[in-house]
Amino acid sequence: MRLSRYFLPVLKETPAEAQIVSHRYMLRAGMIKQASAGIYSWLPLGFKVLRKIEQIVHEEQQRAGHIPLLMPTLQSADLWRESGRYDAYGAEMLRITDRHGRDMLYGPTNEELITDIFRSNVSSYRDLPLTLYHIQWKFRDEIRPRFGVMRGREFYMKDGYNFDLTKEDALHAYNRHLVSYLRTYERMGLQAIPMRADGGPIGGDYTHEFLVLAETGESEVFYDSEITDLKFGDRQIDYDSVEQCQAVLEEFTSRYARTDETHDEALFDQVPEERRRVARGIEVGQIFYFGTKYSDAMGATVSDGDGNQVPVHMGSHGIGVSRLLGAIIEASHDDKGIIWPEGVTPFHAGIVNLKQGDAEADAACEALYASLTALGLEPLYDDTTERAGAKFATMDLIGLPWRITVGPRGLKNGVVELTSRRTGESEELPPEAAVAKIAAIYGVAKA
Ligand code: ATP
Ligand code: MG
Repeated sequence: MRLSRYFLPVLKETPAEAQIVSHRYMLRAGMIKQASAGIYSWLPLGFKVLRKIEQIVHEEQQRAGHIPLLMPTLQSADLWRESGRYDAYGAEMLRITDRHGRDMLYGPTNEELITDIFRSNVSSYRDLPLTLYHIQWKFRDEIRPRFGVMRGREFYMKDGYNFDLTKEDALHAYNRHLVSYLRTYERMGLQAIPMRADGGPIGGDYTHEFLVLAETGESEVFYDSEITDLKFGDRQIDYDSVEQCQAVLEEFTSRYARTDETHDEALFDQVPEERRRVARGIEVGQIFYFGTKYSDAMGATVSDGDGNQVPVHMGSHGIGVSRLLGAIIEASHDDKGIIWPEGVTPFHAGIVNLKQGDAEADAACEALYASLTALGLEPLYDDTTERAGAKFATMDLIGLPWRITVGPRGLKNGVVELTSRRTGESEELPPEAAVAKIAAIYGVAKA
């Protein structure tokens, strides 16, 4: 993309309404624009990152064997009356009446709809196990939407639902989700710690929230510092293997890590004092096994092979896709702007032309642009006539991990400058070498 043809409405001033750094930078970098309280338009740069995050979520869900579909945002109230949640849900649910006077709602979550799809189509244990998921907009009329996309009213969520014959099978699905979530967040450059959470009115021990540590997080968390040494890394895992998934769950959940809802002072005191941490975190996901709550209420049963009809065991598992943009920025920025992890960056590298209009500099930039594009990478080429200082400030603000700076002086010596946004370190090297280095970083083969 050439910046002169892009739509990147960066702001010089810090917007007064933004209280936390991710919100400030998302507004300043021209990623989002508030449409009304807690509802945002996603401008091109923000939309690009949203799509990258969504793509990672899709890939990791499907790697785990989960099947994508798409359910609507508007739902009929009738299904929610069946489950008893139409009245129970309260003021967070946006209720709508259509022209025929029928009660509708903008879905805050999809247990009812998915259970209805399941019961209409599946009747035998032979069709299990089954996990269906979608990534769709949700609406919750939060009393205090704030912090930009972090706590919106309209937000983008991946929600997945497992259907299993037995509790044991459903717990394997639970573990499988935990494993796939660990991979998902790590690919985004995040450490998200599974913490024991509160099962709410349904209760039960089988729920974990995934928290990204950040001072601005809304949850208070208590954990054993050893847990931050754990990495999932690039280990190969067989998602069908009960043992392998169970082993990962045990590894990642055996140390103390809880939110304030389930915090137990006496247990926490058993952690050696020097490893006890009290901090804040951002909830970026939650997994939940809830048994037969919805299948009982809505009659989602299957034959069990012994002549009985039994309710299916279910769980639901969510990832806050739009919230993740805020969480990533909270975890990765400096005083100049965002620092995108390579896995989610909107453009792979920036190209800054220090002397737009200089025939040699222009040609060198065009050649870099063409080589990177030929590798399947997306460069953002600042081909405007802004001064160098302003170009650097914009690149730093929007946070592309790598920047190639091209100027007549370097070109005389046959070099350009490659700068890491994260470390600030620069090196001078021939243009082809800069391209090769970026190709290696992103794991794309040089043609
Ligand atoms: P919270 O406690 O933050 O209100 P929740 O526990 O009610 O969230 P879930 O039902 O678990 O939310 O939804 C799954 C994920 O969706 C959450 O882990 C979170 O990342 C995201 N999410 C929930 N509410 C919002 C919101 N208002 N804005 C943006 N993301 C949200
Ligand atoms: Mg939650």
